[in-house]
Amino acid sequence: LEVIASVEPRIAEATRQELADQRASLKLIASENYASPAVLMTMGTWFSDKYAEGTVGHRFYAGCQNVDTVESLAAEHARELFGAPYAYVQPHSGIDANLVAFWSILANKVESPYLEKLQAKNVNELTEADWETLRHDFGNQRLLGMSLDAGGHLTHGFRPNISGKMFHQQQYGTDPETGLLDYDAVAAKAREFRPLVLVAGYSAYPRRVNFAKMREIADEVGAVLMVDMAHFAGLVAGKVFTGEENPVPYAHFTTTTTHKSLRGPRGGMVLAQEEFAADVDRGCPMVLGGPLSHVMAAKAVAFAEARTPDFQAYAQRIADNAKSLAEGFLTRGANLVTGGTDNHLVLLDVSSFGLTGRQAESALLDAGVVTNRNSVPADPNGAWYTSGVRLGTPALTTRGFGHDEFDTVAELIVDVLSNTEAGTTKAGGPSKASYVLGDGVADRVTKRSAEM
Ligand code: PLP
Repeated sequence: LEVIASVEPRIAEATRQELADQRASLKLIASENYASPAVLMTMGTWFSDKYAEGTVGHRFYAGCQNVDTVESLAAEHARELFGAPYAYVQPHSGIDANLVAFWSILANKVESPYLEKLQAKNVNELTEADWETLRHDFGNQRLLGMSLDAGGHLTHGFRPNISGKMFHQQQYGTDPETGLLDYDAVAAKAREFRPLVLVAGYSAYPRRVNFAKMREIADEVGAVLMVDMAHFAGLVAGKVFTGEENPVPYAHFTTTTTHKSLRGPRGGMVLAQEEFAADVDRGCPMVLGGPLSHVMAAKAVAFAEARTPDFQAYAQRIADNAKSLAEGFLTRGANLVTGGTDNHLVLLDVSSFGLTGRQAESALLDAGVVTNRNSVPADPNGAWYTSGVRLGTPALTTRGFGHDEFDTVAELIVDVLSNTEAGTTKAGGPSKASYVLGDGVADRVTKRSAEM
């Protein structure tokens, strides 16, 4: 920090403050974690200065021999860790990984003169008519993914996201009674819609998914199955999700981030069946620019950490702790979407406290509990205000929290929410944003959490 402070003291100060804040609060954002010092330090090296567009041994820049070592090792560790035939570790983020996968699916599955010529390396021979056909064929494909309010991600076909614009899209939800994924309903939708891509995976669904069933559905309609395991990659790596709950053997493509439950650096990755390897390798330059070599190095370090027995024990604790948190809420009368959890997250429906997700999120933050508001299925408050709060256990599990601590976390959250009232607008009407926190609650909760 001293080195940084000698150049820009305000950045050094913000960095110091971030550490202090992360230490003083309860980090319950389901997509966050604490990476190890080894991972963090690997990100701060001179690999950051190196350009290396291309793939291992096939770069558009000279002097990439050390980046080749890094990228090969990261990919090798990833293949071993997840039992995947092929791994592409260049994507800078989860959204990039999904874009690479979409591009690869289109390139592999859509018949087009462009592709034949690309494969024969004769792109220059393409006529205007070829390009027009390509635009038409690529722009005319269908994608079926889980809707945002059921727990899917923006990149799974949400209209305002590019995935909802580059494909004709439809979305599947969850059963209105149970909140659970209804495989028969997904199959019926797939039969009717005939997507090229069936996307499974989630950001806010508190249950495990049977990927064998999803693959059956994809096969029946001739779709490519793409599973986005960004949230639960740590549970797959840690062998908590095995058999039909492990997407890698079933999916044609498995995409992920590396920084959530997997506890690595910020970044993304694509795992694929061998038949797609050549298409995915074109991620750069089709979708990506120069890879972040320092981050690929940190991915290799994180994957090496994730193959240890310690990480497996950590992953199991993530799931056990989520159960403890859920029980803590249920015994205190709170409502959970699907009535519980069997992964790393809990989706708390805060409407029974008379609050929106936005009000709950802000009140909790005042008390040092960091969460994010989240839609619940068929949310009457929409995606901005929402009716839920999403809570994940990966970060606090890294801090060593166990059953008792998570029971206390539930107690503190219920304390804050039952002592918060919805506020009013300036005109005196009901507000979805303002709130009034009861006297002393923030101090009481902050003090208890500082002791944990
Ligand atoms: N996919 C899923 C399921 C996610 O939950 C997220 C992020 O929260 C992403 C993709 C996007 O990851 P990133 O923020 O790294 O682009």
